[in-house]
Amino acid sequence: MLFALGFSLVPFLMVIAPAPLPSVAAVIQADVLIGAGHEGRPQSCPQFPQHKCNLGTPGERELTPVVADEATRILRAYGVTVARVPADFPGHYAVDAAAFIHFDGTEPVCRSGASIGYHRPEDKPAADAWHTLYAKYFPFRFQPDNFTLNLSQYYGFRQVTARDSALVIEFGELSCPAQRAWLAPRAKWDGALLAHFLSARIGKGKVPDPGPFRR
Ligand SMILES: [Zn+2]
Repeated sequence: MLFALGFSLVPFLMVIAPAPLPSVAAVIQADVLIGAGHEGRPQSCPQFPQHKCNLGTPGERELTPVVADEATRILRAYGVTVARVPADFPGHYAVDAAAFIHFDGTEPVCRSGASIGYHRPEDKPAADAWHTLYAKYFPFRFQPDNFTLNLSQYYGFRQVTARDSALVIEFGELSCPAQRAWLAPRAKWDGALLAHFLSARIGKGKVPDPGPFRR
């Protein structure tokens, strides 16, 4: 009888004393956060009705994860911890640097190029450093920083506290055939350049500059 009672109590106790759930307010720490623009949409949109369900310019959703995954792979190989997130994600992140990866699309085409978005004045030195680095390689125009509200008011900035910088990086205009032809084979190379940039910004990992793209 005692045995029977003992066994029957076990499932009962498990029901009334569940394991504590992680707090929704928990802050997740990493050296770097890398977000792939539009990745996971439209499937993730219903869970985040406060976000505009922007699917990006044609081809963008395929390219941003390639850049993000390559940057993440390289940074981790150099001992940098990376929070790799899709377009819509829960929680708040405390990092040294955050980069949200995008490509632009315009109508009429070929009126845009590469660009950088940030919300805080203290992010400007990082934006300038990325502009200087990417302009060594990117043979098309740069738009002014924060040339659209989607850049300066990017929704992802609200979910990250970044010691050095939080940037939206648009690598170029995919809707422009000449830029697209340059960008398409360089997605992994973009990731390698971004890994180098982020490593240099946070002073960790010493990821080398990949140098000019080679097929
Ligand atoms: Zn985008």
